[in-house]
Amino acid sequence: MGALIRSMDWSATSLGAPEQWPAALRYTVSMMLSTKFPVLICWGKEYLQLYNDSFMPILGIAKHPKAMGNSAKSTYSEIWESIGPMFADVMNGQSVGSTDFKVTLNRNGYLEDCYFDFSYSPIRDEKGDVGGILVICMETTDKYHAIGGFQAMNEEMTAINEELAAANEQMAATNEELASVNEELLATQVNLSRSEKLFKSIALNIPNSLIIMIDKDHKFITIEGDIMTKMGYDSRNYAGKHPTEVGPLERYESSKHLYQRVLSGERFSVERKSSTGEDYIIHFVPLKNDANEIDAGLIIALDITDVKQGEKKSAMLAAIIESSDDAIISKTLESVITSWNDSAERMFGYKADEIIGETIYKLIPPDRQNEEPLILTRLKSGERVEHFETKRLTKDGRLLDVSLSVSPVKDAEGRIIGLSKIARDITERKKDETRKSDFIGMVSHELKTPLTSLNALIQVVNVKLKNSGDAFLEGAMAKASMQVKRMTGMINGFLNISRLEAGKMLIEKHPFDIKDLLEEILDETKLIVSSHVINSSDCGSVSVNADRDKISSVVSNFISNAIKYSPQGKLIEVSCQLNGDKVIVSVKDEGMGINPQHLGKIFDRYYRVETNNTRHISGFGIGLYLSAEIIKQHSGEIWAESESGKGSTFYFSLSIAG
Ligand code: ADP
Repeated sequence: MGALIRSMDWSATSLGAPEQWPAALRYTVSMMLSTKFPVLICWGKEYLQLYNDSFMPILGIAKHPKAMGNSAKSTYSEIWESIGPMFADVMNGQSVGSTDFKVTLNRNGYLEDCYFDFSYSPIRDEKGDVGGILVICMETTDKYHAIGGFQAMNEEMTAINEELAAANEQMAATNEELASVNEELLATQVNLSRSEKLFKSIALNIPNSLIIMIDKDHKFITIEGDIMTKMGYDSRNYAGKHPTEVGPLERYESSKHLYQRVLSGERFSVERKSSTGEDYIIHFVPLKNDANEIDAGLIIALDITDVKQGEKKSAMLAAIIESSDDAIISKTLESVITSWNDSAERMFGYKADEIIGETIYKLIPPDRQNEEPLILTRLKSGERVEHFETKRLTKDGRLLDVSLSVSPVKDAEGRIIGLSKIARDITERKKDETRKSDFIGMVSHELKTPLTSLNALIQVVNVKLKNSGDAFLEGAMAKASMQVKRMTGMINGFLNISRLEAGKMLIEKHPFDIKDLLEEILDETKLIVSSHVINSSDCGSVSVNADRDKISSVVSNFISNAIKYSPQGKLIEVSCQLNGDKVIVSVKDEGMGINPQHLGKIFDRYYRVETNNTRHISGFGIGLYLSAEIIKQHSGEIWAESESGKGSTFYFSLSIAG
């Protein structure tokens, strides 16, 4: 038995002395005392209480030890309402129990909410009647609070967690935003560095340039360019530096007002000459930010020394062109006049502003309009047209004799972009030539009459001498006759030339057989010439419609040249051959031949090949010129083939009469 139970005077209670207690009670008390669990026994109808030591804390200082041997009803008056009915049920044989059962107990002098796991079970005697209640009771207040606190904490934790989750989500969203901002920043950075590189490479790749960017305080943002040193900048890092920190103060002072102008929004350019003589053009460009405010200035310096020199050269050229006595005209490939100098104005009568933009055809006489397309074709293939004599029209309708030189004007890539034309007024020279040729014509004409008489006289003398038997006289007269023939030929040549110049050379075409003509000429020549072997090939009868005398003079000229320019005893071959609708007449010799450099010119007027071989051979250089003019007037062709030292062959072709 517990000490308290033992010390109690039970005899004063309805239970009486412990020895008298019913066996069920005694056994239960002994079991209660041996257990460590809090156990309470409420015995009898008054629920007299017996409890073990473990139960004492449940009773608290307000109830223990007063509860021992007292009625449970009075001990638990404040909670009897809730436990009383349960006690009654137990007394009726039921077992009752609950967990975390809440009661508001006054056990320590104040009311407190206490929680219990309990079991009320009936204590039966030997007969099975319920004598009392066995209460096994475990206080769970701390556990309850602990759980409650835990739950609250849990809830709080959940709430915090939720908040955290929300915050987390926000963070995640912010993070995403930050990431995208970061990406944008990165992209901007990449773009910036790309722009910087681009700027640098642009600056470095503009030849002869310096590019500077300054901020509002005139500090350098960047400087790039291949003429840094030339412009007086060294290669140190200028970014963020003020001009006075990296260069002489005077230079800054002299540029300061320009910096101020560009930063106040003015866009302008200035030209400067360096101390070493280079010319620069410097462009100032204000730069605006996104808010449309000027926050930097761009300064681009370009070395324009070459351009300036080019300008000087052009100015000099222009002065030369202006002061030239020749008309210098430039025109497009479409023949539109683009420039016109003073002499052109003097020569043609048009002022620059009335003729520039007009076509060159305005200056070409109607009968020569086809010259321009021919000139253009030659020039487009890159050729120059030199000293081409023609006639041009003045504003007042006069015809001018001009010598034209036309050259292609090419651009830097060599493409022909226009034409330049130099026209020299040769009217005076032409007049001189006409006077000369008139004089030659007149003299030749005057010489012809006495020569004809002389010829007639020689013929008569020849007849008279025939039977005289004087061989010397006969020979002398034959030679005189040959010389007179030569002279007649020469005078005829001069006459023809003067007629040709005056445009009076008359071509009278009649059909004749070329074979007959050749035979005639050969017979005559063979009679006089014994120095060379003259052969001919037969081409059969070929009729041509031509001026017989003139064609005869061409053949005679070929033959007399072959005799003149080849050594004695050599062979001369006169041939005639058919070629399609044409007949080609040729004279071949085995003479000195003609150097290729002269070959193209021998048909020009007065042209003679001047060599040691030809110097002693007389002539005026008009025979081939006249021949070429005659063949040209017959719409035929004339040409020569020759090899120096081996011989030459001269040809002309005429259309066969249909
Ligand atoms: P020329 O009176 O000088 O002979 P041409 O007009 O007949 O005048 O000839 C021009 C020039 O061509 C001659 O001066 C001569 O140098 C050259 N020539 C002409 N025919 C021959 C030829 N058969 N062989 C060599 N040279 C020739």
